Amino acid sequence: MTINDVAHSAPATPSLIDGPALWPAQAHTPSVLGRQLVVERGEGCWLYTTDGRKLFDGTAGLWHANVGHGHPELAQAAYEQMLQLETYHIFARYSNDKALQLGEKLAAISPIERAKVILNSGGSDAIDVACKLARRHWQREGRTSKKVILSREFAYHGLHAYGTSIAGLEFNREGYGSESLVPETARISFNDPAQVEEVIQRIGAENIAALVTEAVQGTGGVNPPTPGYLETIARLCRENDILLILDEVITGFGRMGTMFAAEYYGLEPDMITFAKGVTSGYAPLGGVMVAPRLWEPFYVDAPDTPIFRHGATYAGHATACAVALKHLEILEREQLVPRVAELESVLRQALEDLAARVEAVTEVRSAGLLGGVTLDASLSAEQVCDDLVELGFIGRPLRGNTIQISPPFIITDAELHSLIDAIGQAVTGRSGK
Ligand code: PMP
Repeated sequence: MTINDVAHSAPATPSLIDGPALWPAQAHTPSVLGRQLVVERGEGCWLYTTDGRKLFDGTAGLWHANVGHGHPELAQAAYEQMLQLETYHIFARYSNDKALQLGEKLAAISPIERAKVILNSGGSDAIDVACKLARRHWQREGRTSKKVILSREFAYHGLHAYGTSIAGLEFNREGYGSESLVPETARISFNDPAQVEEVIQRIGAENIAALVTEAVQGTGGVNPPTPGYLETIARLCRENDILLILDEVITGFGRMGTMFAAEYYGLEPDMITFAKGVTSGYAPLGGVMVAPRLWEPFYVDAPDTPIFRHGATYAGHATACAVALKHLEILEREQLVPRVAELESVLRQALEDLAARVEAVTEVRSAGLLGGVTLDASLSAEQVCDDLVELGFIGRPLRGNTIQISPPFIITDAELHSLIDAIGQAVTGRSGK
């Protein structure tokens, strides 16, 4: 039995059955039903709930609302596109103008030279596509044993079949009747490149298709890489013919103060997965940027040229793409990425001050506009985040008794200090120290 199976087959409780029909995501239902925070309006960094609360969004939702909430230009872009054409699919010889335009734009800003772009509806989708394409690549090359996908402990790559199977947060993999939904996966150390080398030797490079990694682990607790780690695993991938998939679902489109984390850490991945920050969440959109070595064989002008048999009705959804195009225009026009680069040191300093001031804060970590505050074992990050809500701020508990900080890029220095101060207040309120 796994930790997810503890509450096995007891009948559902009548008071919970009578709650909302919507099944909440990633929730222990008895802990959340009856106390849900129902957001009905957003403006900039602020959210308004149906029970009259005004809350500062210290996490930009699930790391997505980078330009802030309620941006009228994005609403207008969606409205105008829907009047013109809600969407048309991009299967076979059909396409739509906005998907093509977004492809050009993304290829132009991609850290991958001459990238082709695959579009879909979110980060979990993107991960599934990237892992499928990695396997498809080696099958097509005739190196048919190269199937294993490596991922790091504490990794989060969404929750579709591949994301679940390569999850480094064990609780996301448990309870499905086997170690993983896709059998050919293996975990590597999140911070020790020597161990990664050992795993590659044990499994055999001839059996490994790709290594998937976040640049800064998000849901795993905001873990920036230990110095040299990413560079070393990138080298191991190159030397062993293992494709490197950089999951930039959180870090893509500015959260590091560079457009992509690949630039921040000087990496040259074979694929980059993205979602969230491509639209700041104004439309469900994600995708994969693909390097020439992977796409060129599918672009040969010959009858036997292979086909990548992947696609979905909403791949390249015209309204989502129109929103993304307007969103990227706003990001550039308002100079939000260089602004994040400025905020990086403000956040780092504020967190260091917090750790020095509040004894129950055992560690702080940050990179770009991503921060994590780890609490000592006498406290629960979940309870502290509940207290934070009462102070008017949203933080989010992550693995390792850590509080997530990832505000919208439009946050002011003063607001960032208020957010960190409020966390300090909530921690001190609980711990008395
Ligand atoms: N990869 C990473 C690094 C993520 O943080 C997430 C979402 N938090 C995903 C993939 C999955 O994205 P989505 O929720 O859009 O499917």
